[in-house]
Amino acid sequence: MAGRSSRRTQHVILANGREYDIPVDEDGYVPVSKLLERFESGEGVSDGKTFRDPVKDYDERADVVLPEKLTPRQAAIWWDRPAEYDIEGIDAPGRPKIRKGMKFYGTEAEATRMSVLVDGALNRKEREKLTKSGLSYTARPMHPGTAGWYDGEGVSLSREKGMEVPVVAHESAHAMRARDRSRDNRILLTEAEKIGVEESCTVAESQARSSTPAISGYYLSVPVFDEKTRRWRQPTEAEALRMAKEDHQIFTYGRGKGLKGEDALRSVEENWADSHIARLRYKSRRMAINVLADASPEIKAHANRALAKARGGEPKKRKASTKRSGSKNASTKSGKKAVLGWIRRK
Ligand SMILES: [Zn+2]
Repeated sequence: MAGRSSRRTQHVILANGREYDIPVDEDGYVPVSKLLERFESGEGVSDGKTFRDPVKDYDERADVVLPEKLTPRQAAIWWDRPAEYDIEGIDAPGRPKIRKGMKFYGTEAEATRMSVLVDGALNRKEREKLTKSGLSYTARPMHPGTAGWYDGEGVSLSREKGMEVPVVAHESAHAMRARDRSRDNRILLTEAEKIGVEESCTVAESQARSSTPAISGYYLSVPVFDEKTRRWRQPTEAEALRMAKEDHQIFTYGRGKGLKGEDALRSVEENWADSHIARLRYKSRRMAINVLADASPEIKAHANRALAKARGGEPKKRKASTKRSGSKNASTKSGKKAVLGWIRRK
C-alpha cells in the first residue's frame, strides 16, 4: 500500500553522457504505465530533435525490439531515444496477446481491457465468429480526432479515444459487415463502393450495441431541414449532438441499454430508415437512405415516409434550440460537450 505513493526511480547514466531518473517498481522493473507515458509524451531525442511524433514512431519499425518487462538499466537506451528502439506492445505490435482465443496487440493491460470492451459490444457467438475469421484488435497511438479504424485486416483503437464500447462496436461492426456470412439484409452488409452508406449503417449498429450514445463525428454530416429556407442544411454541433443522442434512444428502443447479436441486428433493420444517421451525406451528393432506396422498393417507400417526417418534425425542435440559446448555461454546456465529443470513426 505504502509503495504506491513512494514510487522510486533509479538514476542511470548512459554511455553518451545523458542521465535519467527512470521509474522502477518494487519488483525491479519499470512500470509499463510509465513506459507508455514516456512514449505518448513525445519526449526523447530523435534525429537530434527533441520532438517525436508517437504515431510516426509506432509505424516505423526499429531493428531492436525490447520486451515489455525491463529494468531501468535495460530501458534507458529506449528512454533516451524511443524512435530508434521499440518496446513490444508499446511502440511496436510485437507478439499478439491471446484472450479467449482472440488476438490483441498492445500491453498486457490493454489486451485485457480491449477483450472486456469486445465483450461489451458483442455476444459470445459474434466474438467466436470474428476470432475464427482471424480478426485482431490493436491499441496504438493515433492523431487527434481519430478514434479507430478497420482496415480489412484488423481493428485499431486509439489509446486515448478508442477505448470505449461505442468505438469498439463501430469498428467491430465494419468487420462483421464484411466477414459474417450469415447476414443477408442489405442494411447489414458491407458497402465497400458506397462509403456513405457503409458508415451510416455502421454508426446505426454501434448505437444499437452501446449503452452510452455513440457521439460520432459523422453526425456533423447529417443534414437537417431548415424551416426558413425550406432546404436541407448542415447541422450545428448542438444539433448533431442531439441527433446522436436521439438515435441512441431509437436504436435501443428507448431503453438506452445496448443490444447484442440478433437483437442488435433486428434493431438496425427496423429502425435505420427512421434514424437521423440514415440521412448521412458523406463523400456523396446523396443521403445514404436515398442511395439504398434505389436498391430496394421497400426501403424507398420507407425512405419517403421518413424524410417527410424529418421535414415536418423540425420546427418544434428549432423553437426549442432558439430558446436554449437564450439560456447561457445550457448552451455553453452542450456546446462544450459537443466539441469534446466529435471524433471520426473510420
Ligand atoms: Zn466507420
